[in-house]
Amino acid sequence: MRLLRKEIGITKPAVLHPTPFKTLISTVLSARTKDSTTFPASVRLFKKFPNAKKLSKASVREVQKLIFPVGFYKTKAKRIIRISKILLQKFHGKVPKTLPELISLPGVGRKTANIVLAFSFRIPAIAVDTHVHRISNRLGIVEEKTPEKTEQALMKVLPKKYWLEINELMVKFGQRKCFPRSPNCFACSLQKHCGYYKNVFLKHSLRP
Ligand code: SF4
Repeated sequence: MRLLRKEIGITKPAVLHPTPFKTLISTVLSARTKDSTTFPASVRLFKKFPNAKKLSKASVREVQKLIFPVGFYKTKAKRIIRISKILLQKFHGKVPKTLPELISLPGVGRKTANIVLAFSFRIPAIAVDTHVHRISNRLGIVEEKTPEKTEQALMKVLPKKYWLEINELMVKFGQRKCFPRSPNCFACSLQKHCGYYKNVFLKHSLRP
């Protein structure tokens, strides 16, 4: 963790606590969409509909216009309005604080639920996206085929005190150095701890 923090230039976890509603909705919007598209779409949406009560009454068409061009914006517009209605009907307009309740919402999987728990409620949870899955397996911390299994395995091997920051660290590290294709291993300080470096990268690089 110390080396990961060093790699991305932070010494302690970021203190992020956007409202749970905004975290939940913007994470739903972010599926299969770049951050550079999701962020401005979320800003436009929350300017007009900052909470579940307001979004539950929005028209699908207006929400579609506000969130365009996020991926699957037509489906997502309906989904986030539906989520807002359920929050009002079942949870007094608040985002629930437990994993089972969160994943009972339409289109909310474990990754999204864990992001809400960790980033907004500061409840220890490991949100495993493609970066966390890839890097954990490359480093050899876990050996799993799916993000769901990686999450379970990480919960067993990673002390709880690191759960809140692991997602942020690995996402940034994955965007800056440990890329999905052609990771920048030559410039990485985690080389000697990395199974991928020893077993894949070096073998390919040293091949005549
Ligand atoms: S050595 Fe390469 S594969 Fe391993 S963590 Fe660093 S960048 Fe990723």
